[in-house]
Amino acid sequence: MTQEQALDVLVIGAGSGGYIASIRAGQLGLKVACVEANPYADPKGEPRPGGTCLNVGCIPSKALLSSSEEFEKIEKHAAAHGIRVAGATMDVPAMIARKDAIVTKMAQGIEYLFRKNKVAYLKGRANILGRADAGFRVSITRAGSTQEVTARNLVIATGSLPRQLPGIAVDNMDVCDNSGALDWRSVPRRIAIIGAGVIGLELGSVWRRLGSQVTVVEALPQLLPMCDADVGREMLKLLTAQGMDFRFGARVMALERAGDGALKLSYADAGGASQSLACDKLVVAAGRVPTTAGLGLDTVGVRITERGFVDVDEHCRTSVEGVYAIGDVVRGPMLAHKAEDEGVMVMERIAGQAGHVNYDAIPSIIYTSPEIAWVGRTEQALKDAGIEYRAGKFPFTANGRALGNGDTSGFVKVLADKKTDAVLGVHIVSTYASEMIGEATMAIEFRAAAEDIGRISHAHPTLYEAMREASLAAGTGALNL
Ligand code: FAD
Ligand code: NAD
Repeated sequence: MTQEQALDVLVIGAGSGGYIASIRAGQLGLKVACVEANPYADPKGEPRPGGTCLNVGCIPSKALLSSSEEFEKIEKHAAAHGIRVAGATMDVPAMIARKDAIVTKMAQGIEYLFRKNKVAYLKGRANILGRADAGFRVSITRAGSTQEVTARNLVIATGSLPRQLPGIAVDNMDVCDNSGALDWRSVPRRIAIIGAGVIGLELGSVWRRLGSQVTVVEALPQLLPMCDADVGREMLKLLTAQGMDFRFGARVMALERAGDGALKLSYADAGGASQSLACDKLVVAAGRVPTTAGLGLDTVGVRITERGFVDVDEHCRTSVEGVYAIGDVVRGPMLAHKAEDEGVMVMERIAGQAGHVNYDAIPSIIYTSPEIAWVGRTEQALKDAGIEYRAGKFPFTANGRALGNGDTSGFVKVLADKKTDAVLGVHIVSTYASEMIGEATMAIEFRAAAEDIGRISHAHPTLYEAMREASLAAGTGALNL
């Protein structure tokens, strides 16, 4: 079947980037369709929108993080408040069903938004066939039947997939990537995780709180090298105290199944000696790779970088006019909000507006307990760039709300330009760092000075008063320290 009138734009992929781009296109009056081949089907077996983030990423992981945190609070922290609870247990299938219900509800929400914004939702696998006078020709195949659409512009939003390691076959039963580790029906006794990155720490936290013994095997010599060094040091101390076991500088060698059904992961330690680790479940969380295979990008000549990403400029234009790419399939952090921001930018530019993303003001969050959040540059990056700065740090031990909450771990650190006082970076370790980073992101986006934050009235008692205090500490001095 060939569609009669060419679309203004076809979006390939209905993940964070693709679905938001499609909605924005509809709002701007563009004739838009979004195609999704999602392997994560809804209960009726239909390809479900939402991509990695909704189906096997941000949303389900945060649901399980929240459930496991509630459990740990009751089990370990209630007594400090004078609450006596005996024999709390976790009904894991109920926890998983809650998570699944949230995902289903949100996927229905996307389909509703598509209808509301006149986005045609096409289910199937897209393959670019080439170029005709009317635009790019794309086939969409599902269950043996194929339709063809033509679009003047294409937005590639095909996302990423978990990195596979040689010799370690993921079956999502015992040897899992993020998909499998979000779906266990009971608490494994011993979990080994390859990769102390964001997924390793978040999913490791979920199952550790529920009682698993978690060991993380990491190739690099340190935790979270992309974070400010203070944050990495603090989190290593806190996560180790919570019971996570880290093996740094490890080179994974092989995975075998022992006679008793357990898994045996062999690795060379930092000194080169052979080690082995017995576990009941293995999680491979060693990064993600962009999804470009089988998409037909070569038929129109879209350039791919050496690392396999679609090559784009700062406005997400590829090497071919009329073809854009956004989200995990292009350079930059693999974050849902970055993908969304790029989707909005691209559609505004297709509609003739001046869409723009400020890549210096994209916040990052790791949802451990306490949470880690940062925006802007680290101290190391400022030193490397030869930028003179002042640092102000404020610990939650001196924050009244944190004391009342019963969690004084962490700090806020503000880095400000030595000459202009402009905020260059903010790094937070705190129970609600994910919410507090909003103020810091706004400060960087609006080029605020640290003094501005210090002079803004901050409600008391709140955790975000620490943001004001750290800003003051970068200047004339904190008030409460
Ligand atoms: P995706 O969401 O991967 O969507 C791409 C879509 O394209 C997929 O649905 C795929 O099926 C479809 N597709 C691919 N090829 C084709 C084709 N040929 N035809 C049709 N459709 C196709 N980010 C955050 O910001 N915060 C978090 O808390 C967070 N937590 C995460 C937790 C986990 C466990 C994981 C794995 C990731 C997490 N992320 C988080 C990252 C986030 O999920 C991604 O950055 C985000 O999903 C990227 O969006 P995207 O649109 O680029 O790609
Ligand atoms: P990651 O890049 O965060 O961490 C992967 C880790 O695995 C790294 O520390 C790396 O050194 C290590 N590693 C790689 N190969 C290894 C090997 N062979 N042996 C031992 N260690 C090895 O990747 P991830 O945790 O898989 O997450 C993928 C992406 O998903 C991230 O880029 C992140 O942006 C995104 N994500 C974001 C969030 C969030 O925003 N809260 C949550 C989860 C995932």
